[in-house]
Amino acid sequence: MARTYFQSVVVQTRDLCSNVKHITFAPEGEEGFDYIPGQFVMIHFQNEEGVEINRSYSISAVPGEVGGFSLCVKRVDFGKGSTLLHGLRVGDEIKTSGPFGRFTLRDESPDDIILVATGTGIAPFRSMRDQIIKASAHSRVWMLMGVRHGDELLYHDEWQDLDAFCPNIHYRAIVSQPRPEDNWGGPVGYVTAFMDELADHIVPGRTTAYLCGVPPMIDAMRDVFVERGLNRREIRTEKFASPPDPKKADEAAPAAVEFKPAIIKKKKP
Ligand SMILES: Cc1cc2nc3c(=O)[nH]c(=O)nc-3n(C[C@H](O)[C@H](O)[C@H](O)COP(=O)(O)OP(=O)(O)OC[C@H]3O[C@@H](n4cnc5c(N)ncnc54)[C@H](O)[C@@H]3O)c2cc1C
Repeated sequence: MARTYFQSVVVQTRDLCSNVKHITFAPEGEEGFDYIPGQFVMIHFQNEEGVEINRSYSISAVPGEVGGFSLCVKRVDFGKGSTLLHGLRVGDEIKTSGPFGRFTLRDESPDDIILVATGTGIAPFRSMRDQIIKASAHSRVWMLMGVRHGDELLYHDEWQDLDAFCPNIHYRAIVSQPRPEDNWGGPVGYVTAFMDELADHIVPGRTTAYLCGVPPMIDAMRDVFVERGLNRREIRTEKFASPPDPKKADEAAPAAVEFKPAIIKKKKP
């Protein structure tokens, strides 16, 4: 099936920390934007050689929170897509498509649901908030969040509130390299450190794990859950990685050598 592209206009940006932005978009010509929490959108733009490339970003907005969708984007050094997104201002437009993906909360009732995120890997879980609250009526939900520095605990207050007000939702955050200015009094290390605490809650046939973040974390955590007996179906993953740049379709074709940013136009004030 052909992919449907649409322009999305930036309606709000805010810094979540020094290198992560929460950016809200309104798809043009759409009355609303339907997606299932956990899905992602793609942005499309041209690289330095004029070849169109894409990047994927999980939707971090809870459905109904905004008219369109929000993304939570970490700026990667020399990263094409993330630098482009961090440079967007309110009124700028970008070519997008979606929603895509099947990293969604299954409609089932295991005893324990274990969500594991590093950094912006928290985005799809934030979008799942209402489903998580609903699921906590019949399952214990564990949200494990790992970051390097204390200020990178994205949406930390929101998760603390869920932990405080929902008896079956347990938020655990861990920082691997806290700095003095972080004033971090919590656990130090990696998300794997929570596995002992959760030992009694990782039971084949009664636990589902959802892992989201950079590939090394996913691979390490998947191994932990496999060692504890969970099968493939019980471990769901979303790896945050970029696709390899496509080659030019025809090197002899007139090359668009000039770099064209994906920001098509600025909205008139
Ligand atoms: C389904 C899906 C959902 C995603 N959702 C999000 C999301 O919600 N938020 C988000 O920020 N990203 C998300 N990503 C990752 C995103 O698509 C890009 O891979 C990321 O933004 C880097 O792209 P870039 O073009 O800026 O860097 P690139 O030009 O692709 O990479 C530049 C260099 O940075 C390295 N690099 C790439 N990613 C990282 C990283 N995360 N940390 C450190 N170094 C890195 C690369 O190895 C490369 O050397 C998602 C990926 C997928 C597949």
